[in-house]
Amino acid sequence: MNGIDNIEYDTLLEKFKKVLRDNGLKYTKQREILLKTLYNNSDHFTPEQLYLYIKEGHPDLNLGIATVYRTLNLLEESGMVTSISFGAQGKKFELATKPHHDHMICRMCGNIIEFEDPTIEKRQSIIAKDHGFKLTGHMMQLYGICQSCNKKKI
Ligand SMILES: [Zn+2]
Ligand SMILES: [Zn+2]
Repeated sequence: MNGIDNIEYDTLLEKFKKVLRDNGLKYTKQREILLKTLYNNSDHFTPEQLYLYIKEGHPDLNLGIATVYRTLNLLEESGMVTSISFGAQGKKFELATKPHHDHMICRMCGNIIEFEDPTIEKRQSIIAKDHGFKLTGHMMQLYGICQSCNKKKI
């Protein structure tokens, strides 16, 4: 689970409840399961994928896709989740509390590879510093074709 422990989940849950309250939305079982699913899976989900995944694990849960969309958008606005945009194909979401990493995104299958490179991280800080720029964060997304799609093409 990427080294995220239970205490952090409780903190996350409290924050989630507050965000819902502040936006006049109810804290429901459906929304809690949504948060927990994101917490327990390091995958990147489209709203549809997340919806189907939750449905699979909780067949009796009365969950609508609209709730998934609305909740994810709210979570993103409040900075609790981040997304990677696939243009017309939509977005993939993940929790913002995951340890820092950057992304490689396959333009053919939409697969996302996570990576972290100390040299790149360091260079970014130096470049920012050189420009007198106070760096508060970054998102790196490399686009291309993944290994398995590359093989299929040949
Ligand atoms: Zn990075
Ligand atoms: Zn990621």
